[in-house]
Amino acid sequence: MRQAVVVGAGFSGAVVARLLAEAGCRVTVYEKRDSLGGNCYDYTAENGVLVQKYGPHLFHTRSEAVMSFLRRFADFFPYRHHVLGSIDGVLVPVPFNLTSLKALFPPEAAAALRDELVEAYGYGARVPVIRLRQSGNPRLRELGAYIYEKLYLHYTEKQWRQRLEELEPEVGGRVPVHISHEDGYFSDPFQCMPEEGFTALFRNMLDHPGITLRLSTDALGLVRVEGETLFFNGTPCGCPVVWTGCLDQLLDYKLGALPYRSLAFRYENLPEARFQSCGVMNYPGAEEYTRIIEFKHFTARSGPAQGTTIAYEYPCDYDRENIPYYPIPKRQNHALYGHYRAEASRCRNLYLAGRLAEYRYCNMDEAVQAALKLADRILREGR
Ligand code: FAD
Ligand code: UDP
Repeated sequence: MRQAVVVGAGFSGAVVARLLAEAGCRVTVYEKRDSLGGNCYDYTAENGVLVQKYGPHLFHTRSEAVMSFLRRFADFFPYRHHVLGSIDGVLVPVPFNLTSLKALFPPEAAAALRDELVEAYGYGARVPVIRLRQSGNPRLRELGAYIYEKLYLHYTEKQWRQRLEELEPEVGGRVPVHISHEDGYFSDPFQCMPEEGFTALFRNMLDHPGITLRLSTDALGLVRVEGETLFFNGTPCGCPVVWTGCLDQLLDYKLGALPYRSLAFRYENLPEARFQSCGVMNYPGAEEYTRIIEFKHFTARSGPAQGTTIAYEYPCDYDRENIPYYPIPKRQNHALYGHYRAEASRCRNLYLAGRLAEYRYCNMDEAVQAALKLADRILREGR
């Protein structure tokens, strides 16, 4: 295989591009934004704070293979992510844990509930709130209903315009109740951030003589799929094309639009050194925003900053003009996606990768892991 086209310079596209180039292929990467890194893109603001333009990105993984691959392109510093949530004005750890319980309930009630939780699930367990709500113990069921109402109900309504139980169980499972004092947001053994930020990591990853970058270029005008044939720039094309954008868009919405959720961020530069005590503060109540992000807590290695930068995160509808941040993880949406996927699979040199093209809720490490595998597959099939 001599040539390949990659659409999108986020993790999915960049990892595949790098591996194909290292195998001797000439790869052209088309990216419609003027920046690298997809939603992981970051930049240094005028006040010196390293800001993530598309929302807070904290790296975590269980995979040694992913970690050692990424270490080729960046040094990492350890960072364990802690989140607080404002429940009726009280700041408590999120995921909800035994410390949260103690902060919100009178001492005797908190101690009694703690004992019942430990007896029912064992110290250290992580229990999805929906399971807690179904407990056979009426006091734990009531506690489940309380945590659901205070932490998940409005947040999920704001984030998805759906109720938690309408979404795939993996959504609520991402933030289970901790039957312990464990207050980390993630449980993976590797939790760290790139010293110079994600954009620098992507710059290094895409810096290869076999890779040509075409930024500010929408590939929708270049790639077209007709049945089993893939056209590039109007001509049938036999080389592998890796697509990391929306699949419904590529296929002209012929089976109907896949639903996405978008976000709007309101940034503020403030003169004070610190705005809040942690990098992400969740607002699961009546506020319109879901969280406030203060970047310097987790991108601090970018250098001395004057003041701080925060962002309010407001979920909103996707209207094809804004960014399709999240596929909406519901069974019927995945079913529609399955039809698109079947249609796309007729075209043997079209490869789908990433959060949008695979219509899945994946973290950065999962995108990298899938891309490592995909590059192998393309190389095998291209022989
Ligand atoms: P993307 O990053 O979306 O990249 C796709 C790229 O393709 C984009 O640059 C896009 O512009 C480009 N593109 C699309 N269509 C076209 C086209 N027609 N022509 C040219 N280019 C095109 N993961 C974590 O592990 N930890 C976190 O803390 C975390 N926080 C997140 C917070 C938010 C708000 C969001 C939305 C996601 C978060 N993620 C997090 C997930 C992470 O962003 C993704 O796993 C990762 O970015 C997936 O990479 P990707 O390359 O598949 O997609
Ligand atoms: N969630 C919630 N309240 C919170 C945090 C999370 O209801 O304080 C729910 C919500 O439905 C959210 C999901 O759990 O979409 C997953 O949260 P996570 O922080 O993993 O989402 P991310 O921002 O990483 O997409």
